[in-house]
Amino acid sequence: MNTTKIGWIGLGKMGVPMSQRLMKAGYAVAVYNRTKEKEEALKARGAQAVSSPAALMRQSDVVVIMVSDDQAIREIFTGEHGLITETATGKVIINMSTVSPGISKEMAALCKQGSNYYLDAPVSGSVKQAEEGQLVIMAGGEKRIFQEVKPILECLGKLALLVGGHGAGNATKLAINTLLAFHAQGLAEAVVFARRNKIKTEDVITLINNSALGNAFIKIKGAAIIQNNYQAAFALKHIAKDLRLAKGEGLMTPLGEVVFQTFQQAEPKFGDEDIIAIIKHINTA
Ligand code: NAP
Repeated sequence: MNTTKIGWIGLGKMGVPMSQRLMKAGYAVAVYNRTKEKEEALKARGAQAVSSPAALMRQSDVVVIMVSDDQAIREIFTGEHGLITETATGKVIINMSTVSPGISKEMAALCKQGSNYYLDAPVSGSVKQAEEGQLVIMAGGEKRIFQEVKPILECLGKLALLVGGHGAGNATKLAINTLLAFHAQGLAEAVVFARRNKIKTEDVITLINNSALGNAFIKIKGAAIIQNNYQAAFALKHIAKDLRLAKGEGLMTPLGEVVFQTFQQAEPKFGDEDIIAIIKHINTA
């Protein structure tokens, strides 16, 4: 039994399997989610559900957050009954959401004012890696705090690396997700081009997977294309958001500009589907 009391905020596609892993490892986990129904599955497994971020902060040693975007983070920290309005001190807040470096620096400063500690620790990997504790975690913050919570991060991921100060984890994540967008659009364009030349989708994907270009992403997303399954594991709206954040941090490279435009254009129609639904958008182009 691990004695660190964990408060978990955000029970979306990633938050559910990640918080469950901590429970399986023996941590006492209390949860908060804006939409209360999503707490039921965790309650059924023995987690305590708490009414607000403030209440969670009060009773936890470490609060982990896995929510959508900057706006969600701002509401959780500074909204009514938010984390920051509490008088609790000495707590560690780990923000694993993909958000901007700017909001991390802002929230880290607010934490410091209240004698609390902030670590940005976004993840690479999706639902499957979250279930298996195989995420790749890139952290920004103080070394002492990173070392203190490393056992928690190592329960969630196969690698946890401190890459710099507050916001550095977020900047690294935006770089990696830019590459992810290149891969998704590249795979989609290759398949569409092959189809237009009367090559079967299964054949081109099998050949890519067996070539030097095969990788875990193409294996999973290639299978999804073959099965015509675009149910979101990583929603297209999230990569569109990440590319906006990357652009805000200065992404102005030739390919960066192209994927930015493509995903912004695809988001209104395909935002709630998986990232690889970009192929449907490319198909109509
Ligand atoms: P998701 O399934 O869309 O869940 C989003 C979570 O954020 C939900 O718990 C939602 O609460 C909460 N939320 C959104 N706006 C909020 C607000 N204003 N106040 C409070 N809570 C709010 O997202 P996800 O796929 O788990 O992704 C979570 C984060 O991880 C994102 O930043 C994403 O970019 C990143 N990420 C995702 C993947 C992936 O494969 N899915 C991989 C790596 C990183 P409600 O239930 O109330 O809506």
